[in-house]
Amino acid sequence: MQKYEKLEKIGEGTYGTVFKAKNRESGEIVALKRVRLDDDDEGVPSSALREICLLKELKHKNIVALYDVLHSERKLTLVFEHCDQDLKKYFDSLNGEIDSDVVKALMYQLLRGLHYCHSHNILHRDLKPQNLLINKTGELKLADFGLARAFGIPVRCYSAEVVTLWYRPPDVLFGAKLYTPSIDMWSSGCIFAELANAGRPLFPGSDVDDQLKRVFKLLGTPTEDTWPGMCSLPDFKPFPLYQPSLSLSQVVPKLSTRGRDLLQKLLICNPSGRMSAIDAMNHLYFTDLNPAVKA
Ligand code: ADP
Ligand code: MG
Repeated sequence: MQKYEKLEKIGEGTYGTVFKAKNRESGEIVALKRVRLDDDDEGVPSSALREICLLKELKHKNIVALYDVLHSERKLTLVFEHCDQDLKKYFDSLNGEIDSDVVKALMYQLLRGLHYCHSHNILHRDLKPQNLLINKTGELKLADFGLARAFGIPVRCYSAEVVTLWYRPPDVLFGAKLYTPSIDMWSSGCIFAELANAGRPLFPGSDVDDQLKRVFKLLGTPTEDTWPGMCSLPDFKPFPLYQPSLSLSQVVPKLSTRGRDLLQKLLICNPSGRMSAIDAMNHLYFTDLNPAVKA
């Protein structure tokens, strides 16, 4: 730890506190994340350590790099690449306006980072704007990758705040235990709509019931026909049979027809029908993406 000089606190997260810090030797600026564990007496579970160490191998321009894992005295400190800000803070600075090319470029990078991780069998499971970091150059990087698998899907934050349900798919809200990349694809759909609306969340539910109600009111309540197996999920409960609302055009008025088509294919209640990251990257919506982003 003497290797780093702590500069300032930059965030309070799900698993611990994040500091901006400077490597005393190289001068490099990094983000230090001190992970708190529920049961301090137990120390860091070896399963978590194994998972975390795997994450060091994930190297991609749209994933926040994990440089180092420092493990001492039953504490865990993760050393990450430092980014300028998170997407939530970026939204707060927008005043309700966002350029449609910026939406497209950020969404593409989100999908490309996801595709890389999914092709390495790593899921995020807690995608949300606070976990997406951006640089002034317009780069987007996924943060906190794989931590949900190492430590368990978060229910409460380190600061005892309840974790947001807004980006959780209906299958997870119904208690599905089988996690597949589709969980992240739902979240990416919610984030896509939020990007298009310059930071207005798509489904800001207050609890599990309200969350599902908001989803079904927009997309229509799924049935055993549209989603075989739904009724057998551990926490399934029946909801009123809402009809799908006529079009997404009122929900994301600034998004092009192609953009709305992509959004619709990500927001599919039945996880097996949800579009994959690679298919989403190849969607027509990205045909006119700035080639510099694609490169
Ligand atoms: P969360 O609990 O929201 O997933 P984290 O625990 O990763 O978030 O960190 C909390 C906040 O700290 C983030 O939302 C972000 O604002 C900031 N942060 C985390 N990692 C970095 C980083 N590598 N570079 C810059 N800021 C970061
Ligand atoms: Mg995080």
